[in-house]
Amino acid sequence: MPSFRTLDDLGDIAGKRVLVREDLNVPMRDGAVSDDTRLRAAVPTVAELADKGAIVLVLAHFGRPKVPAPEFSTALVTRPFSEVLGRPVRYIDWEGDAEAVATLQPGDVALLENTRFFGGEEKNDPAVVERFARLGDLYVNDAFSAAHRAHASTEGLAHALPAYAGRAMERELKALKAALGAPERPVAAVVGGAKVSTKLDVLRNLVGRVDHLIIGGGMANTFLAARGIAIGKSLAERDLAGTAEEILYAADKAGCTVHLPYDVVVAKEFTPHPPSLRTCNVHEVAADEMILDIGPAAVEALADVLKTCRTLVWNGPLGAFETPPFDAATVALARTAAALTQEGSLISVAGGGDTVAALNQAGVADDFTFVSTAGGAFLEWMEGKELPGVKALYQ
Ligand code: ADP
Ligand code: MG
Repeated sequence: MPSFRTLDDLGDIAGKRVLVREDLNVPMRDGAVSDDTRLRAAVPTVAELADKGAIVLVLAHFGRPKVPAPEFSTALVTRPFSEVLGRPVRYIDWEGDAEAVATLQPGDVALLENTRFFGGEEKNDPAVVERFARLGDLYVNDAFSAAHRAHASTEGLAHALPAYAGRAMERELKALKAALGAPERPVAAVVGGAKVSTKLDVLRNLVGRVDHLIIGGGMANTFLAARGIAIGKSLAERDLAGTAEEILYAADKAGCTVHLPYDVVVAKEFTPHPPSLRTCNVHEVAADEMILDIGPAAVEALADVLKTCRTLVWNGPLGAFETPPFDAATVALARTAAALTQEGSLISVAGGGDTVAALNQAGVADDFTFVSTAGGAFLEWMEGKELPGVKALYQ
């Protein structure tokens, strides 16, 4: 079984410059970090390295800049990260960075400017790999959530410097192996979120691997429409009806039970607590209504399904959870999963940007066995794919 080196394998690193790839790509609202989960996930590795006397140079991307622009500068997350870390963090621009790094002392932490300000970062350009590698002696990849990309800072550097997995990466790899590698059965998967099209390969992979596939969110609408159910103005991808049917057929053949909601929460306008709010059977959605959450009867039935399961993998909210009360189903089912986990009857692993936000909103993230801070990488893992940033650590 190939493995990877962790921080336990580092020798004396006092005074060594360690390039640490973290994912600090946090959501912002009105200039403030609206969910600091990723900042907190970076703390153990950065603090441990600093405590061991390393000069810690954090590499991170922030947003999707086409060209360098102030709104994509990691300067915006430097202070929030420093507050979460509980020690000073120096921001270093890409101009004069080598000189700035040379002034750092053992135990200092610096956050370098957005890696994506180099066009070659996302192309894994050897010149950019070299540009980063010159700054450090060692490389630690702690950003599982960016490991599905073969970028200079997520993949290339692992070949240019001695490479190690950080603590968050290590925990993530262990937890996901327990959930999807050789899970205890029965296994349930909850797949929700806005669109089927972003999660087709997840659904295809899961139907062959889980016993219960619970579909919620906007993507449930696509499946309902494919079955000829009138879904009014609901968000759905009607052109994917054939694909949805194929998935249902594959599930049937594999012995995977697919659970679609039979009651739903609808409204005519998508606003908080809309006056037109009502709960109805899926067959009773009017032409001018939208399905914005799955209904309470469906949630109760799904809770019963989870009670029979030993393992749960969850990606995607069951409704438009950002707008109350369309978080009700997600919150209720998440609380059931959390309670079963705490009783010791369920291993629960969840991931996805919005999923993590929804679990935090439900106040249960800490009660799950493991919550992945990864979005796309978690999905690719659920698709059964090998992640380049992870593969590069196995050497
Ligand atoms: P994740 O980030 O966890 O992978 P997604 O990005 O796939 O999840 O989906 C999350 C989004 O799906 C949320 O913004 C939520 O509002 C939206 N969503 C869920 N259900 C519905 C629905 N019925 N109608 C419209 N949007 C929905
Ligand atoms: Mg999302």
